[in-house]
Amino acid sequence: MAKFVFVTGGVMSGIGKGVIAASIGKIGQVRGLRVTSVKIDPYLNYDAGTMNPYIHGEVFVTEDGGETDMDIGTYERFLDINVPKSHNITTGQVYSSVIERERRGDFLGKCVQIIPHITDEIKDRLRTIARDEAVDLVIVEVGGTVGDIESLPYLEAAREFRLEEGAANVVNVHVTLVPVLDVVGEQKTKPTQHSVQELRRIGVQPDIIVARTKAPLKPEVSRKIALFCNVEESAVFTSQDMQSIYQSPTLLDEQGMGDYLARRFQLNGRIPRWDEWRRTLEESLHSESEVNIAICGKYAGLADSYVSVNEALKHAGAASNAHVNLEWIETDRFEKEPERLNVLSRFDGVLVPGGFGSRGAEGKIKAIQYARSHDLPFLGICFGLHLALVEYARHIGIHDATSSEFDSEAKNPVIYLMPEQNNVAAKGGTMRLGAHEIMIKDKTMAYDLYGRGKAWERHRHRYEVNPKYIAEFEAKGLVFSGSSDDNRRMEILELPASRFHLATQYHAEFKSRLGRPSPPYFGFVKAALKAKPRTLQSKHIISKIGASN
Ligand code: GLN
Repeated sequence: MAKFVFVTGGVMSGIGKGVIAASIGKIGQVRGLRVTSVKIDPYLNYDAGTMNPYIHGEVFVTEDGGETDMDIGTYERFLDINVPKSHNITTGQVYSSVIERERRGDFLGKCVQIIPHITDEIKDRLRTIARDEAVDLVIVEVGGTVGDIESLPYLEAAREFRLEEGAANVVNVHVTLVPVLDVVGEQKTKPTQHSVQELRRIGVQPDIIVARTKAPLKPEVSRKIALFCNVEESAVFTSQDMQSIYQSPTLLDEQGMGDYLARRFQLNGRIPRWDEWRRTLEESLHSESEVNIAICGKYAGLADSYVSVNEALKHAGAASNAHVNLEWIETDRFEKEPERLNVLSRFDGVLVPGGFGSRGAEGKIKAIQYARSHDLPFLGICFGLHLALVEYARHIGIHDATSSEFDSEAKNPVIYLMPEQNNVAAKGGTMRLGAHEIMIKDKTMAYDLYGRGKAWERHRHRYEVNPKYIAEFEAKGLVFSGSSDDNRRMEILELPASRFHLATQYHAEFKSRLGRPSPPYFGFVKAALKAKPRTLQSKHIISKIGASN
């Protein structure tokens, strides 16, 4: 029978609950448990696909084509598993199922209510995952912050769940923030106390408190939290700011998290095997050189909007013994003041990530043109491929080339709406989504990157390469080195004459792992390193857990 860990958050959002949930999963996994993770998002949207990444963070695409919360990406990267879309539960989905069943007549004669019908649906979904996937441990992260109206039914479900499954099978973890008042330098526990009070008022008593802090909790502060929050002293943990989020699992385990869980879940005699994780982590923390990458995008204001891209670049850097310095550049500015393109001369590589809509697109095209004409390594992702193709089309003389995403009446839409999208009006879950097989041509850069002729990568797009122009492009030096669906769809383009000018229709970042970087990202970072070798000068930036995950 599976064990469950519920992870709730207090005080405020954005403190890195996802990383802590994933770390707890890892602590179970290194003890030989089959682990999976679930993210509950109490909002009414059916999924994250229709939400603005600038506000909400990246839309993470799963292997089975779910448009999910970015925490799912964190779980995949920590646990090295593919998390199915059913693991991102939203209020939209829960209510839809219950209402659908009500219409069908499943509840005939009854008044359908939040308790028990909504809470039953929530618990059912968790039990189904545990049963169908035959896992030993399910980490359930409840999004939002305790005290939100929206998360109440989930906390109630968590309360009932523990009552039904028994305390030996369910552990509640509460993640809070312990701030330090600069004037006195004291770690303040009051916000944690209030948050736990609120949780207990709902009927959930945390077993474990994880305090997010700048520096380790002082012993007396730990004791105070234990006393006031009614948890064992050995169950108060610190999660302080770290150089890398991947240090989080061992940091918690060193404080006894694994021992506590083993005791509570009666899992005696399991030896944690951290060797491989530690080795990969150690390698990633020390670099001899550094590389400066410009990400030319639109959502530059929020690092979370492109978490997987950032992570994939870090993974590629770690595997190349290089620290990757990322800088986000709003491309609007290149449109108004083209001379500002010169800032790109400071960089060793240019990346244009996925995106939507025309704002900033001409600026991105200018950045790609700069990269191509200066032989600066370039990687384009999805929208980045579209714009790279438009840029190349203009370069070879199709001066009015564009994407029909910007102009549906365009004369030369080298990127066009996929034919199967013509009659699609609804926006939610209707793009071409999820993993598809890519066939890679021999003797190309792409083949060298993957080392084989096939790959499975994840997609999220409505527009693609217009086949009408393929022959013309290929006659003028561009190679489509990857394709899918019997060669109907172009998936990778490259310029063989360049150092590295490559773009993919898919989002390779979603499958990148520390220790196993995504091939296009790895190739790009290696090419950037070669372009301008630099020894490490700048100090590593301390990455705060909450800041990027
Ligand atoms: N806007 C483009 C499309 O819909 C690209 C999407 C993306 O970059 N994910 O096809």
